[in-house]
Amino acid sequence: MATDIEGIKSVTLETIYDTPEGKLIQSCIQCGTCAGACPHGEYMDYPPRRIIKMLQHGLIEKVFETDSMLKCVNCYACMVKCPREIHLTEVILQLVKEQTIIRLPAVPPELQKALENNYRYGNPMGESGRKRANWVTTSSVPVRILSQNPEPVDVLWFVESYPSYHPRGQDTCRALAKILNALEIDFAILGNEEKSAGECGMLSYESGLAEALVDYNMSVFAKYKFNKMITTDPHALDAFNYRYKLYDFGYEAQHAILFIMQYHDRLKPLLKKTLGYSVTYHDSCCLGRHNKFYDEPRQLLQLIPGIKLVEMVHNRLNSICCGGGGGGMWLDTYFKSQNMERLSDIRVKEAIETGADILAVACPYEIPRFEDALKVAGYDKKIAVKDIVELVSESMED
Ligand code: SF4
Ligand code: SF4
Repeated sequence: MATDIEGIKSVTLETIYDTPEGKLIQSCIQCGTCAGACPHGEYMDYPPRRIIKMLQHGLIEKVFETDSMLKCVNCYACMVKCPREIHLTEVILQLVKEQTIIRLPAVPPELQKALENNYRYGNPMGESGRKRANWVTTSSVPVRILSQNPEPVDVLWFVESYPSYHPRGQDTCRALAKILNALEIDFAILGNEEKSAGECGMLSYESGLAEALVDYNMSVFAKYKFNKMITTDPHALDAFNYRYKLYDFGYEAQHAILFIMQYHDRLKPLLKKTLGYSVTYHDSCCLGRHNKFYDEPRQLLQLIPGIKLVEMVHNRLNSICCGGGGGGMWLDTYFKSQNMERLSDIRVKEAIETGADILAVACPYEIPRFEDALKVAGYDKKIAVKDIVELVSESMED
């Protein structure tokens, strides 16, 4: 799955032209597919097609005078559809975005706060690091914390910030702990030693923060012996597999759903309770478009007795972003001030149209975003948002 981004760490917009990526810029045929695919393109002074054209002509400074790239939510829709295979989201737009943020007269306060919180506390919410593993005390199964029991472990579970602190994220943590325990997996978490991996977009446009988080987390990983790393957060997954790799991270992190699916023969007999829900699955941008994991989440859902899967109009490659990536999690107020419709509001309308009981997700950003959007739509009593691991765990109850 990994794109070859070797060496990108040291590439800047000034030096990009000398790289294979930069040469690809000249191959752009200005077809406009990227701009057409962009969910925020209509709100950008310079949508991706025009940014590439400005780069071709050395006029990129004009783009920095606008907030176009601040509106990019790293959804990968432009990149996966580009006929010239230009790494728009992964490389080019990130470099433009970083320069845009540096030159903004003022970073929107919500985003500024999230960045500062990550620097000071190691999580964007500004929660105390000491509370990071509090959810473990309400887990129905034991969860080993490496600082308390540093013996080698097979699977290191990188929990990440939203699952650690958000009440609904903590539900997901308890569900996954129950599944891993039932599958007899030797697993552990870092607990209070863990800090945010760095949201994939944020890692790219705030390089000082990126380096600090990477350095810190890598130093913690070096203290322990483990064979594999899993996470429920596709943004952390991307951070590790695309960005940390540039800093000699020696593992291929795996999303928890893919990890669980390796044990589907062992899992199936444990799923005793028939749930009888109609479920529609939202493809996360990082897990779906970026890593092409479209089938595995659906296969896991279909292992659960009684689940009927229904698709939204836009699914798989064409899924609509929840709006949380690339810093979008902390830009809702800013986007509203620009009269932009929230992508999460658009997405839940599609989910409602399916008539499903459950909107299933596989990313911790999506639960709060979609629950809020359903409330706004007045549908929060008719359709529930659940992480897939919550549904699996529910089916394991007697
Ligand atoms: S989709 Fe690719 S080739 Fe087409 S305009 Fe966009 S960057 Fe250029
Ligand atoms: S990654 Fe998504 S939001 Fe960003 S420019 Fe491309 S299509 Fe638009």
